Amino acid sequence: MELLKRKIEAEGIALNDRVLKVDSFLNHQIDPQLMLAIGEAFASQFAESGITKVLTIESSGIAPAVMTAMKLDVRLLFARKRKSLTLKDDLYTEKIYSFTKQEESEVSVSRKHLSADDRILIVDDFLANGDAAIGLARIAEQAGAKVEGIGIVIEKAFQPGRQKLLELGYRVESLARIASLAENKIAFVD
Ligand code: 5GP
Repeated sequence: MELLKRKIEAEGIALNDRVLKVDSFLNHQIDPQLMLAIGEAFASQFAESGITKVLTIESSGIAPAVMTAMKLDVRLLFARKRKSLTLKDDLYTEKIYSFTKQEESEVSVSRKHLSADDRILIVDDFLANGDAAIGLARIAEQAGAKVEGIGIVIEKAFQPGRQKLLELGYRVESLARIASLAENKIAFVD
């Protein structure tokens, strides 16, 4: 997606050779027009998949996922990282190792928002080692729902996430693929 690539080139910062900072439009401040374009792109890629729900993880997945859900005319469900007084019973939970925080956390969604009839599109901001996407897929599958695909805004293609997801049989679509962040330079695949 050219618009996204141009944004990453203009505003992305390679913090080191593995981590890209895009706090000006995705992970802290959010560019709504770009999120809308991202939602349109995922919605057209998965238009024939009969998606009934978009699933993401708080917090950075929510902006692109809500636009995708709006364009597919379905609801967005986000997994929560902390239980609360309003989210404590009848949960599907999975442990997910966070690439950026370098710690494992238990994420949950309420059982009442997923069913065996659901056809799920998982959306997330980044794909690195695949742990977040795999955890979300397991949550959907605990409910007996079918994971129709995984939509990633920025894939770091030099990390093994895509390969793992493909080996598990998932369809993976990413809108920007980073080949390398070496020497503080952002290089794209193709
Ligand atoms: P994975 O679970 O695939 O290893 O990593 C994906 C998750 O880690 C995403 O939900 C995202 O929040 C975070 N993440 C992974 N790599 C990066 C990165 O380079 N920059 C930022 N900002 N987040 C990342």
